[in-house]
Amino acid sequence: GIVAVDRSGRIVLWNAAAERITGISSSEALERLATEVLRFEIEAPEGSGERSISIRRGVRELWLQVTEAVMRDPSDQVAGKIYTLRDVSADRVVEQAKSDFVSSISHELRAPLTSIYGFAETLLRRGELFDDIQRRTFIAYIASESERLTGIVDALLDVAELDSGDLQVELATIDVGNVVREVVESVRSDSESSQRDGHSFRVDLSDEPLNAEADRDKLRRVLTNLVDNAVKFSPSGGSVSVTGQRRSGVIELRVRDEGVGIPEEERERIFRKFYRGSSSMLSGGTGLGLFISRGLVTAMGGRIWVESVEGEGSTFALELPFENESAAEE
Ligand code: ADP
Repeated sequence: GIVAVDRSGRIVLWNAAAERITGISSSEALERLATEVLRFEIEAPEGSGERSISIRRGVRELWLQVTEAVMRDPSDQVAGKIYTLRDVSADRVVEQAKSDFVSSISHELRAPLTSIYGFAETLLRRGELFDDIQRRTFIAYIASESERLTGIVDALLDVAELDSGDLQVELATIDVGNVVREVVESVRSDSESSQRDGHSFRVDLSDEPLNAEADRDKLRRVLTNLVDNAVKFSPSGGSVSVTGQRRSGVIELRVRDEGVGIPEEERERIFRKFYRGSSSMLSGGTGLGLFISRGLVTAMGGRIWVESVEGEGSTFALELPFENESAAEE
């Protein structure tokens, strides 16, 4: 936007872009004081070149980057000023997201590092005070926390690949049922060994082989994330079920929990990068799991969505293309 003021600070030019950015028409703006119209001291303090100011537009806060040039008359007196306004609100949002990201990732990385360091230190300094079983427990913690770290770093790499469009999927015909059983078994054994969750798990797959065109490794990551979330967002003792069946042209998998559920207005947002819902305040997390899951499923030619009743639970459903569509439509 371009705005010019005369020597008394009254607006003499308010172009179409300025109208668009601020939502203020030129007829409203012309001849009024710029400070009054923008409700901001637009004049830069001496010597400060470019700067950002925030103004209100309705309920929104707009960030404008302002540069100014002084116009002088032939006798070198200030005749007025020209300001250029650039709407940098979107950049600010990105900046904010980046710094939120750095702090949440640091936090996520720090937690496992702290326990790895603590257990390793204890073993080094006072290892002889513990018996074999205790030492093994410590080492098991070091191993599982290292695995957690690897998981976080892998997630970050996935995000980088999704963002740059470099993600490669290796599609092959696989029996999705096997992947479901492996994932549920592994989450079950983790939750048993950590002795905190006490969830019960159910796998319900139709008898025929569930052959889909998919990338086994990536599908395993998606399902692990969904089943982990189901455990994380439901109270201990809750049941987590995974069902799989063939539908026309697709294999459909559903991961259901009896947890807190997801409010209607969050059901799309939870798939966004870094988005953590209201339910996640206590459980931590990076807000990347579902973003990656959607990216991976889409790359495999499928889709993923959520159905939920607040307070009763959530069902994450995903569809993958059947190994051979014409066979599926019979
Ligand atoms: P995170 O790794 O932080 O859990 P996700 O992308 O996996 O990130 O999930 C994003 C948000 O979606 C979570 O913060 C949570 O609010 C919500 N969510 C995901 N799965 C469930 C679930 N099974 N039940 C309730 N809320 C869920």
